[in-house]
Amino acid sequence: MEIRRFFVPECAVEKDRIILDGEEFNHAVRVLRYKKGYKAVVSAGDGVDRYCTVESIGKDSLVFKVDTTEKNLAETRNKITLYQAVIKGSKTDFVVQKAVETGIFAVKLFVSQNVSEKEVNVKRLERIALEAAKQCGRAIVPKVEFLPDFKSVLKEAEAFSGNKIMAYENESKVSVNDIGTKISQNADTLLLVGSEGGFTQNEYLDAKAAGFTSVSLGRRILRAETAALFLTAITLYQTGETAL
Ligand code: SAM
Repeated sequence: MEIRRFFVPECAVEKDRIILDGEEFNHAVRVLRYKKGYKAVVSAGDGVDRYCTVESIGKDSLVFKVDTTEKNLAETRNKITLYQAVIKGSKTDFVVQKAVETGIFAVKLFVSQNVSEKEVNVKRLERIALEAAKQCGRAIVPKVEFLPDFKSVLKEAEAFSGNKIMAYENESKVSVNDIGTKISQNADTLLLVGSEGGFTQNEYLDAKAAGFTSVSLGRRILRAETAALFLTAITLYQTGETAL
């Protein structure tokens, strides 16, 4: 029987017992047919993996007994937040899923001038993030947020003191290869990626003014969803987050 991962709020943990209810209970009992004695790993967002056994199952909640605990090693030392311009339908799903798998702390989808789809279904994307976090063994479920305009991105960036890296398709001087020398290894990072239509010149200038370093991802124009994964991977490598 595969040991599945479940996420609970910290308040669900009471010493060596954990209460599972709500959607996670429904998924465990009605979809996965969990029974008394079944095993699971439970994350309460505190960086600890709790290896549990189902002790009892009620009508709308079950009790896990905690057998052992281990530190979850799947989180990055410093938080990397991905700001991604909204792209068409399932490609945004792909960006969220890959962001969770690669250790991104939060995904913030935003509308900029060249965005065609002005809305996203955050609830659906949160479900994609939850499934991806279970699959790859994260200690937390990365947040998915929606920012209605580029101004909101700039406002958050201006208030942020860590590394800020923008993938800009018209960047001709700074390569992503060089970010190792441009970022602090011990700071959180914001990554910024445009939509299918890319960034306008003004958005580029405003992002620079907000402290972003703009980098080229190479001599080819990548799809937005490719660029998001590519920039994340290189940032993880450049900040030592892919080391064992
Ligand atoms: N409309 C733009 C054009 O045709 O030049 C392309 C935008 S690209 C499809 C989507 C986003 O991916 C860009 O806004 C940028 O953030 C990123 N991107 C794609 N290729 C890139 C590259 N070679 N260098 C830097 N960023 C890139």
